[in-house]
Amino acid sequence: MSHARPSYQAIRIRVAEISVDQSRKALRTGPDRSLRQVQRVIESEIRRLPRDERGPLACAAGCDFCCHLRVMVNPVEVFALIDFLHEALSREDWEDFCASVAQANQQLRALPADQVLTTNIPCPVLESGRCRGYSARPLNCRSYHSLSREACEASFNDPGNLDLGHPQLTALAQVHAGGQGGFVAALNEAGFDSRQYELVSALAEALDDPEARNRFGDREQAFLREPLVES
Ligand code: SF4
Repeated sequence: MSHARPSYQAIRIRVAEISVDQSRKALRTGPDRSLRQVQRVIESEIRRLPRDERGPLACAAGCDFCCHLRVMVNPVEVFALIDFLHEALSREDWEDFCASVAQANQQLRALPADQVLTTNIPCPVLESGRCRGYSARPLNCRSYHSLSREACEASFNDPGNLDLGHPQLTALAQVHAGGQGGFVAALNEAGFDSRQYELVSALAEALDDPEARNRFGDREQAFLREPLVES
């Protein structure tokens, strides 16, 4: 007997409901716990998808075209990534990471506003084509996927052409969207800053200004510098 597949909208709604419920509960022990919980929800919901709705993907270790684009993140993801890297990296590598953040931030801030989204600049978390913070990478990094390496390469080689895209799996995208939506709703409900900030500029401000973390904990706006990308 064949079972009808749920609609993409139904997938998104189901995951959002699970995500908001579990994020809410985990928030009682802190936003970082809640983030880890929503990551688990997303991974588990991806495993529930039929095989052909979750792969095979063209994404592979060492392929880093998408890590030259701007990524939007929530403050809790910024602090989680910093904490992970501070723990995982040697002192020398940590200093190298901090210097890379400052340099990438300067490069981005020097660009005319209309080129911020259309200029390839390597993410400072990257090293030799690999993400140094892979297990703590932001939700938008996790959701970004492609069925065609060639399409990603073409887009990388022509970053100003926003008409170029890459093929994705709709069900997979819906799981991520539902998971993120539920998490943001739970953060909002609890009064935490759930704005989306551009990753490099947020990392730079978090590293320069320890008060950013305190502001987030006090349920205030975490990052105060002029936004690099409007969310
Ligand atoms: S955090 Fe990691 S996965 Fe995300 S853009 Fe940077 S290097 Fe790539």
